[in-house]
Amino acid sequence: KTPVDNYFVDAAFMQGRLPARTRFSHKGTFGHALLLTGSRGKLGAAVLASKACLRGGVGLLTVQVPAVGYDVLQISVPEAMTLTDSATDFVTELPDLKPYAAVGIGPGLGQENATCEALRQLLKTARVPLVLDADALNLLGANRELLALLPPDSLLTPHPKEFERLTGEPARDDYHRLEQLRTFARRHSCYCVLKGAYTALATPEGTTYFNSTGNPGMATGGSGDVLTGLLLALRADKRLSTLDAALLGLYAHGRAGDLAARETGEAGLVAGDLVRFIGPALRELT
Ligand code: AMP
Ligand code: MG
Repeated sequence: KTPVDNYFVDAAFMQGRLPARTRFSHKGTFGHALLLTGSRGKLGAAVLASKACLRGGVGLLTVQVPAVGYDVLQISVPEAMTLTDSATDFVTELPDLKPYAAVGIGPGLGQENATCEALRQLLKTARVPLVLDADALNLLGANRELLALLPPDSLLTPHPKEFERLTGEPARDDYHRLEQLRTFARRHSCYCVLKGAYTALATPEGTTYFNSTGNPGMATGGSGDVLTGLLLALRADKRLSTLDAALLGLYAHGRAGDLAARETGEAGLVAGDLVRFIGPALRELT
């Protein structure tokens, strides 16, 4: 049996992981990200993830939404470019992936069959880092043969319920769930997060990291969508390893929650507040 390797991710642990922006950097330095997101009634998830990606420092962001989301995205997130699907209510197709440094998929996506086919196509053809969340994970759980298609070093961000759907096996207790997390990351050669208080990150090598930031104010709709956007920005940044991008995203997301809660209180915190504090949280790390 391999020894278990655990780290606690606090401010000291994060020291020096986020490189400063050099004077001569430009949009291309920080990557062009693609986000596949949204369905009728869930475009808020698309907006929150998009805003978080931009606040996370991405160079350029293109968002693919169903046709129903075009005006919403263009008006709510003018910094992003919007592609619309031929379907009205769900994402069903992939754009040409060539321009993109990283692809995120999941927030507010829904679980239509045609969406699942787009996900399958993405897993088969993507040659860049992937971030998978929310309904992308639910689709993986419902079509477990897709797990074999996961490109190495993909980053998955389930909460406990999504993680249970992914494994198809309910955890006996919290410790068992962590064991399942380590096994899952090894078996599928992915970086898998388990969200909640002290969010855990398991690596393909079997190391586990526990995040120290965040508070119960973040138990509110849309918090996870903000994390997805932020992680997508960091994965599009070629200067960062998969591990550093994941740790930076988890730590800064929680820290944004802590800074926001000082202002709003925990009960009053909404996911949009997290977006506002991503910049300040990242600034503390440089
Ligand atoms: P989701 O369930 O997808 O919206 O994700 C919720 C996000 O909020 C995750 O990043 C969690 O880690 C975070 N979160 C929820 N509850 C807590 C908590 N009690 N303490 C710290 N972070 C939390
Ligand atoms: Mg979520």
